Order: sequence, then structure tokens, then C-alpha cells
Amino acid sequence: MAWKMKQGYELVVGLEVHAELATRTKIFCSCPTTFGAVPNTQCCPVCLGYPGALPVLNAEVVHFAAKAGLALGCRIARFSKHDRKNYFYPDLPKAYQISQFDQPLCEGGELLISTAAGEKRIGITRIHIEEDAGKLIHDERGTLLDMNRCGVPLIEIVSEPDIRTPEEADAYLRKLRTVLRYTGVSDCRMQEGSLRCDVNLSIRKPGEAFGTRTEMKNLNSFVSVVKAIEAEYDRQVSAIEAGETILQETRRFDQRSGQTYAMRRKENANDYRYFPEPDLGPVIVTETQLAAWQGELPVLPDARKAAYMAQYGLSAYAAEQIVSERAIAEYFEQAAALSHAPKTVANLLITEVFRLLDGEDAVICISPEDLARLADMTEDGEINNNTAKAAIAGVWQTDETPEDYVNRLGLRQISDAAVLSPLVRQTIEENPKMVAQYYGGKASVKRAIMGAAMRLAAGKANPDMMMRLVDEALDGQENK
Ligand SMILES: [Zn+2]
Repeated sequence: MAWKMKQGYELVVGLEVHAELATRTKIFCSCPTTFGAVPNTQCCPVCLGYPGALPVLNAEVVHFAAKAGLALGCRIARFSKHDRKNYFYPDLPKAYQISQFDQPLCEGGELLISTAAGEKRIGITRIHIEEDAGKLIHDERGTLLDMNRCGVPLIEIVSEPDIRTPEEADAYLRKLRTVLRYTGVSDCRMQEGSLRCDVNLSIRKPGEAFGTRTEMKNLNSFVSVVKAIEAEYDRQVSAIEAGETILQETRRFDQRSGQTYAMRRKENANDYRYFPEPDLGPVIVTETQLAAWQGELPVLPDARKAAYMAQYGLSAYAAEQIVSERAIAEYFEQAAALSHAPKTVANLLITEVFRLLDGEDAVICISPEDLARLADMTEDGEINNNTAKAAIAGVWQTDETPEDYVNRLGLRQISDAAVLSPLVRQTIEENPKMVAQYYGGKASVKRAIMGAAMRLAAGKANPDMMMRLVDEALDGQENK
């Protein structure tokens, strides 16, 4: 059910998304970033924060972060710098995080989202580079610390408070993940924590100043983001209606109860005592680098969607489904180029192939050539749509071609008038009552006659051809 405003309070949401960059090594040392390694095997004095250890910036981190910025339409700073964010971090032994404060690498981008209400632009305030912290593992022995994640490079993507419904938040996150995965700078696997989202939320009467916002940190699925927004919105509306004041604080969303709970009063930027990181030089990006990085960007989902709609006549919905993953878009383009029925290719892809795909990194187990051939056979009336789908499922992960499958099971449509005409004649002879009703003016009976003829052909008749023959037999029309 669509979400609705309550008592005239507008929802105002901004999202902060942390994405782990897919560099091979960490941001300030050469330790590997492989996910799932034995705890504390991918660390060195730099990422463990030993006194005197000096960070060296991994150039690939700037490259990847700038690429993300370019894909999201940001201005890339030619000069930016790192700052220390001081805090008590139980999982970051230096007691500060190296981040970027007042001079981030990327600023002023945007993302186009589409929801049932239409398309909308969500502003992107900034993208900055920072290091990740380690991981606390709570089990029956107490709390353990895995430092492998210390120093894994992150980008933090901060949106403008432009989001007005939970659905828009969901669409924003999905689109952001799509764009980041297109560029290859992050795999954005939420279940592995490589994409995490903080929600800033306030409410107001439309036209009024922004209300006090609360923050919910480290939500790790799209569903929990939506649920957390709904719950916190309801809480703030009830609180204000009861005459209470909203406090600026960090709250925790509890999935089991579906409620949010206060954790701590929210710090302001000046509480972190940011200061420039003295152990690192500035981040300089040259025009030459920028041009090269721009050239590495793939055709992005919005451009592909527009092309599919214009070139192949796909609906916005179908085009959007296909561009949601770069590998699927590229697969579709290969198959569509080989077929004279690209719309049918798209239809088979988003129905049957999507149904068979399992998980976000799943591989399509039918070649683009075979899908193109099936689409052509459907378009040419050799098989019907249901047979095409059955053939995709039938040859999935096998070596058989769909054409062999169709032939082996005798699934070809019969389009031959010489075969179908006698069946039509037989139908008319066997159903004199229906024929009389039809000539008596009951036009709808034609459908029943058609159905009876199709049954005689065991469902394998080409329906268009059969309809034409039924028309000719009943009305004597010489339809061509
Ligand atoms: Zn290290």
C-alpha cells in the first residue's frame, strides 16, 4: 500500500550512503581488502594505528571515488585534502578516522529516480573519501575485534534532503547501487556490508522550515531503510502532536519491534574537532587524469534506458528493468542486435530469464544468440510465447539449443493453412448450434468456435492463422 502523509506533516529525508571501494588494497597501506578472510590476517602497523606508522594514500582510491563522482554528475575538486575526525571508536584504535571535512573530492551531483509518481531528481551534496573501521563481533565469549576492515576505502555519498516518501528513498538507493555497480568502483553487496545507509529524517508542515532531524545509522538492507523511515516518521508525528520536542539524536531501528530507540544525543561537526591530517599531502587531480577517467565511464543506465525506448520501442518499465544491471543491459544489447524482434527479446528477458535468475550476481544461462533465435521464432509465428518461455526454462544450464528443444518436443506452431483448414471445417460441422447462434447475430460466439478449433489442434495452431481461417469459414471473407 502506498505510503501517505499523516496530519499534514511532510517527510524530509536525506541519505548518507557508505560504499566500500573495490580496490585490491586498503586506503593508506598495502594490506589486501578481500572479504571473508580469517580475522586479523589482513592488517599492518598502519591500519592497526601503531604510533609512528605513516599513511600513504592509495592512488586507486582517488581514481575510483572520482569515477563515482563523475557518474553521478559531480564536480571533481582539483584540490582536496584529508582531515582527522576525532572520536572514541572502539573499532578504530587510532581514535580518529581519516576522512574529508570541508574540502571533499566531489560536490554537487544528482541522481534521477523513478517511482509510481514519476521521475524526480535527488541532489547529491558531496562525496568524500574515508577509511572504514574494524568490526566488533559479539558472541558468548564477549566482544571480539576483527581489524581486517580497518582502512578499507569508503566513499560517503551524502544526498540533499530531497526525499519525501519511503518509496523515493528505496528508489534512490537502488538507482545509486545500479550506477555504482555500472562503474565497477564498488560491488555494493549489502549482505557483505559493502553498502550501508544512514537516514537523516525530520518532519514539517509543507512550506515551513526544516524540523529537527534524527539519524538512524548503518541500515544494511533496502527493506530496513524503508521500515525505519516509516517508523521514525510515525514517531515524530505522534511526538509533535503530543506537544513534545524532537531532539537531535542518533536512534537505532530495531527490526524485530519495528520501532526506533534513542541511542545518544547527536554530535555536531565541531564535536569531532576536525583538523587537517598532517601525515598526508593534498589530493591533486589533474585535467589529464580527469579526462582519462571520464573516458572510462560506461554508457550509464539513464542513457541506455532512453536508447531502448527510442530504438526498440520498449516501455519505460521494461527499459528500466533491463538497465538495472550492466551485465543484463549488455546481454540484452547483444541479443537485440541479433534479432529482428528486439521487443520480444526484451519481453522474454524480463519475464522468463529474470524468473530463472538467482541473486544479484547470477549468470544468464542461455546465450544471447539462443534468446534472439527464440524471439525471432515467436515473432515469425513458428512458436507461441508460452513455448518460447518453456524453451528458455528447458535449456537453462544445458547444452541444448532452444530450437532443438522445440523440435524434440514437437512444440512448433502449425501455421500451415492446408493442415488447419480441415480442422476448422470439422469444428463447424461438429458445432451446428454455435454456428446458428453466430449467424443469428451473436458475434461473441466466434470466440467459442475459435477455442474449439484450437483444441482440435492440441493448442499448437498459430492463433492468428487459425483466427483468419475461422473468419473465412464463417464470413467468407478473403482476408489476406
Ligand atoms: Zn595495513
